[in-house]
Amino acid sequence: MSLDCGKTDYELGKRVLAYLENKGVETPRIKDQISPAAKVDVIEKNFKEILTVMGLDLTDDSLKDTPRRVATMFINEMYWGLDPQNFPKITAVENKMGYESMVIEKNIVVHSTCEHHFVMIDGYAHVAYIPKDKVLGLSKMNRVVEYFSRRPQIQERLTEQIYYTLEHVLETPDIAVLISAKHYCVKARGVEDINCETITSKMGGCFKEDMNSRNEFLSLIRSAGGV
Ligand SMILES: [Zn+2]
Repeated sequence: MSLDCGKTDYELGKRVLAYLENKGVETPRIKDQISPAAKVDVIEKNFKEILTVMGLDLTDDSLKDTPRRVATMFINEMYWGLDPQNFPKITAVENKMGYESMVIEKNIVVHSTCEHHFVMIDGYAHVAYIPKDKVLGLSKMNRVVEYFSRRPQIQERLTEQIYYTLEHVLETPDIAVLISAKHYCVKARGVEDINCETITSKMGGCFKEDMNSRNEFLSLIRSAGGV
């Protein structure tokens, strides 16, 4: 999924940002930032420099537009989740039917970038909650995972950001987030372990305190080859 500008909520994005900062799990960020268009210009200029230093001839047909293409891709496709203006519209609604069982959204695709090496993190997130007064449309959980994936990340922080955002929006700590992912910095360089997967989780409320809820979540995500 790419950024859908018609379905964003800047006000909620700012509230979530403040909530995550308060929990100490927000991505380290600079306060005053230039506009997205200005960012594209600066990245283009600097990426041109990097490619030139590497010895590439940017007058060649195939390479000449690469700096601009990469800069646009960074801001509009890969890292738009750094901008709270792009936070998805995920208004929770009243739980009128009083649903109180577990809701699980599993095998949500995670395409992110390792902030240490700037290579791909590729995996799945599994998210569950037990509603109190609020419920959320199912695809909204995918949107939250996608927003925080579209940043340079470490998997531990990504897991926490998804957890605390849902805690804020759903007004309950009864939330579980588990991510299983391959890191291309482990797979394609360094130790070059092609099968290694990293699993991180954050369990809150009843998922933390009650073994039955936790086991139900883990067995349901396993049943479809989730982990
Ligand atoms: Zn890495």
